[in-house]
Amino acid sequence: MKKHIVLLPGDGIGQEVIHSAQGALTALAEEYNHTFTFETHDIGGTAVDLHETPLPPSTLEACKNADAVLLGAVGGPKWDNYPSHLRPEKGLLAIRKELGLFANLRPVKGFKKLLHASPLKEEVVKDSDLLIVRELTGGLYFGTPSERRDNGDAVVDTLAYTRHEIERIVDNAFKYAQIRRKHLTSVDKANVLESSKLWREVVEEKKAEYPDVTVVHQLVDSAAMKLITNPASFDVIVTENMFGDILSDEASVLTGSLGMLPSASLREDGFGLYEPVHGSAPDIAGQGIANPLAMILSASLMLKYSFHMEKEAAVLEEAVHSVLEDGYHTGDLHIIDGHKVGTEELTNKIIEFIKCKN
Ligand code: ATP
Ligand code: MG
Repeated sequence: MKKHIVLLPGDGIGQEVIHSAQGALTALAEEYNHTFTFETHDIGGTAVDLHETPLPPSTLEACKNADAVLLGAVGGPKWDNYPSHLRPEKGLLAIRKELGLFANLRPVKGFKKLLHASPLKEEVVKDSDLLIVRELTGGLYFGTPSERRDNGDAVVDTLAYTRHEIERIVDNAFKYAQIRRKHLTSVDKANVLESSKLWREVVEEKKAEYPDVTVVHQLVDSAAMKLITNPASFDVIVTENMFGDILSDEASVLTGSLGMLPSASLREDGFGLYEPVHGSAPDIAGQGIANPLAMILSASLMLKYSFHMEKEAAVLEEAVHSVLEDGYHTGDLHIIDGHKVGTEELTNKIIEFIKCKN
């Protein structure tokens, strides 16, 4: 298959980890007879420095013409005091909105070698393997008007959803549940919020189209508790924007490291932008010690969700498991009796696995 991928390294370690993902994808393409072409563009602080905007029109245009987009990370202390329209994060919000990426997917899976590093008990986290499907372009974060009233002593934020917005995200989540363990937990606050009542209604209606999927409705407060007391009870979780934001950060604790978590932001037609959950890590940028595995796992999600290359996606995921099992890791991870290596060496181990596997 021929695929054109836009790379947006962004800032800090984004530059380093994107390079790793490109290396791994190039090796995969060689082994499995695909042609991946790459085109690199600026976003975030780097784009502010070069183009005076965090999302240059040329970057957006290139993304619109690509088959998928890989993004490193944006932001850093250099731009912290810049005016609001020149903040690197604005580039990320704008690109999600412009590309219509309404579904944010975060798979969370414990890695055997790293379980001891989670602050939770090993027996609690050991079988966790879940997928959070978060609505990304509606709800409180996009409510208008958000305003101050009564001389600043009263505030209004609006939580708005349309049936259409709920239907498309819920439908997505049902589809992922179908190809996983066929269990969907819909998280809401239907005992209090009108938006959650509509949410629950839509899930109940959609259920009929997916008779093989079991559905549970759970209130967000109890879901938050269960996520760290019995994570193995979840398969797919679907929820609105803010609940998903909070729950997905909470779920990251299950894996024991920020450097291991990938994410996908998708449109209805399967087009997507893939990025690690971690930030630009300015404290270690440019030192060649960043953990590239979250970025490589994000590339694996791209193969699976945008290109439907199930086998190749699985090979990348296996490569990550395998290097950890062999004890190789970057400095942010701790593996008992492991071998601490840099970004490039770890990437080479991944590439070796890809070449031997086939
Ligand atoms: P952002 O605001 O962009 O989300 P942040 O301040 O929340 O950024 P990160 O940039 O993700 O956080 O960094 C948090 C800590 O984790 C830092 O100490 C950083 O060095 C470390 N870290 C994050 N990602 C990685 C990685 N891929 N490899 C190694 N260390 C990492
Ligand atoms: Mg952060």
